[in-house]
Amino acid sequence: MNSKTVFLQTYGCQMNERDSEEVLGMLTAQGYEIAQAPEQADVILLNTCSVREHAEERAFGKMGELSVLKRERPELVLGIIGCMAKLHQDAIFKRLPKVDLVAGPAELYDLPYLLAEIHEKRQRGKVMAVGRAFRPLEQKPAGEYRRPGVGAFVTIMEGCDKSCTYCIVPKTRGQEVSRPAEEIIHEIARLVEAGYQDITLLGQNVNSYGKRFPDGTGYKGPLGRLRLLEEDPETLLDFPTLLRLIDRRTNVKRLRFTTSHPFDAHERLFEAMRDCRSVCDWLHLPVQSGSNRLLRAMRRGYTREAYLDKVSRLRELVPDISLSTDIIIGFPGETDDDFEQTARLMREVEYDSAFIFKYSPRPGTDAAAREDDVPREVKEARNQTLLTLQDEISQKRLQRFEGREVEVLIEGQAKRPGQMFGRTRGNHGVVVTGDAELAERLVTVRITRALPHTLFGEVAA
Ligand code: SF4
Repeated sequence: MNSKTVFLQTYGCQMNERDSEEVLGMLTAQGYEIAQAPEQADVILLNTCSVREHAEERAFGKMGELSVLKRERPELVLGIIGCMAKLHQDAIFKRLPKVDLVAGPAELYDLPYLLAEIHEKRQRGKVMAVGRAFRPLEQKPAGEYRRPGVGAFVTIMEGCDKSCTYCIVPKTRGQEVSRPAEEIIHEIARLVEAGYQDITLLGQNVNSYGKRFPDGTGYKGPLGRLRLLEEDPETLLDFPTLLRLIDRRTNVKRLRFTTSHPFDAHERLFEAMRDCRSVCDWLHLPVQSGSNRLLRAMRRGYTREAYLDKVSRLRELVPDISLSTDIIIGFPGETDDDFEQTARLMREVEYDSAFIFKYSPRPGTDAAAREDDVPREVKEARNQTLLTLQDEISQKRLQRFEGREVEVLIEGQAKRPGQMFGRTRGNHGVVVTGDAELAERLVTVRITRALPHTLFGEVAA
């Protein structure tokens, strides 16, 4: 067969989505075609996430199902890539003996070589391949693939220097390294030219962009940043500077970013958000808990009070900002009082939306050494309480749009015929009456109704 086909399914976060696009770009550059279903593919890859147990279990289950395809087509190549692959390499080969390939995030650029290696080994009667070598970025095989649509992700940094006790990312993705600003600006300019209107900058903690570049430069830690700000602010290339550069030098219509660690979200960032035409009125600022005791146990590096101060300063500068967050409930040692403080913080901040996760220990993390002592029923009850609370808050927050005209970028068809789906600059989903003519257009919409998770409206005349 001349050209092979690849099917890739992604689990977990947006960083993983972007990694998947990179992988498809590399493989299509090597002559692979993208298959729409696993049954049509010669190579099936699952890009997995270890941050949430749920994503990990789904990936294990899916690969179990796909293994059946090998009965009919033994030449099929099955691979697990991403964080989970790195972490559970041995368990994967044991639990899923049909898997041929395992590659962690640092080895993704080796995939074309690993696939070739499998082919070669098969001819010699062996089948497995495990990614090992880290190939420097400049040597990555050429090729670019982007999912069609109005939005695109652009990775601005890799890795994470924090050490939140529940998180495995620093171990799987390594130390922070930022991409040079010129490279990012060029990539965005090309995407805008290709028709993408909504760009999301990605990194585990975009707020510490600029700390360390591949050539060894960078402001090196919070103290280096403060010193430069005092002595030579012009030379400080940090995240707010990057936002201003992108805003000034590209024609991007909407610029977003995620994830923002509250510790590194400063006034300078909020000022850039206020000043830059393209930066959207939306900030995802994961708080994780409203209890100082638990924030310390999670090693988040900020207090409830510091977090709330940042939120109120941001609201002074960008009054219509939409905020979203992540919350973990049932962290080891969480008492009723800790939980109540989290609920109080949610009432105080009034997030537009919140992602609530029930804690489950991730092997290899510091928190996993502690007893997972909040009973399952308690976690479940707390989860329900917060979901209901957030629904009430979201409903109230979204009602502020009723009767207002807002800018909506239409992504595509909604579920019902005669309706399209789009997003506001605050990242709220909007169902708009209209047809495919509206697709991929920026339109002004009069909001007629607000539900907790969706707005409804008509195109304004
Ligand atoms: S900031 Fe914390 S939670 Fe986020 S990736 Fe880094 S260690 Fe994990």
